[in-house]
Amino acid sequence: MRTRVSAAAKRWLRSHGGPLGSIVRVRTARPEFVLTYDDGPDPTHTERILDVLREQSATATFFVLMNRARAHRSLLAEIVGGGHEVALHGPDHRPISRLGYRAVRERTAAAKAELEDLAEVAVRWYRPPYGLQSLSSFRAVKAAGVEPVLWGPTAWDSREATTEQRIARSLRGAEAGAILLSHDSYAGFADGGRSDSPPTVDRPELATRIIEAYRERGLEARSLSRALASGTPVKGIWFKK
Ligand SMILES: [Zn+2]
Repeated sequence: MRTRVSAAAKRWLRSHGGPLGSIVRVRTARPEFVLTYDDGPDPTHTERILDVLREQSATATFFVLMNRARAHRSLLAEIVGGGHEVALHGPDHRPISRLGYRAVRERTAAAKAELEDLAEVAVRWYRPPYGLQSLSSFRAVKAAGVEPVLWGPTAWDSREATTEQRIARSLRGAEAGAILLSHDSYAGFADGGRSDSPPTVDRPELATRIIEAYRERGLEARSLSRALASGTPVKGIWFKK
């Protein structure tokens, strides 16, 4: 009996991550994956990616940086107006995993409030820069009122790679409810990033190719909230410093 309970608890922890879980996937019966964009908004790429999403009848979640959102406020309105979702990537792209609890809580709460004010929507999701979070920063982010969202497949579009490599990488782990990480911009030194070598990539073209590659597998691109309308979040333990 004891063994059975323990095995069930282990299974539950694996799928839910317990109270320390971050959203890593959606459990859904619908043929959908979650398309996410980080590091924007970007005056060069975001608008064209929004055009692609409209052409493809797709929706996506945009994890924005506040230093950019402030400078490109009209793009936030275009994201929301297009039926997409605005979420928080942080006040800037500095990693939070080595900051103290109070600093993370305060800067995240302030960024969430400012983003809600600028975008005129409620902000529920947060993605830590570089996917780096400590137990302390995880708790601080939750205390600030947002839910950490990580990912499964990645588009490999923050580094140099060929389009074929990017598509192959995007499809690694492609399944219903997978959360795909991609970027509508590049976070460099000006954003508090750790490196400053933007890759050569046609981001709108890559968006089209990824959406079509997933469609060939029967999966349509959706924002996280849209996918969660008919699915449930799957949480996993994700701590990286
Ligand atoms: Zn980022």
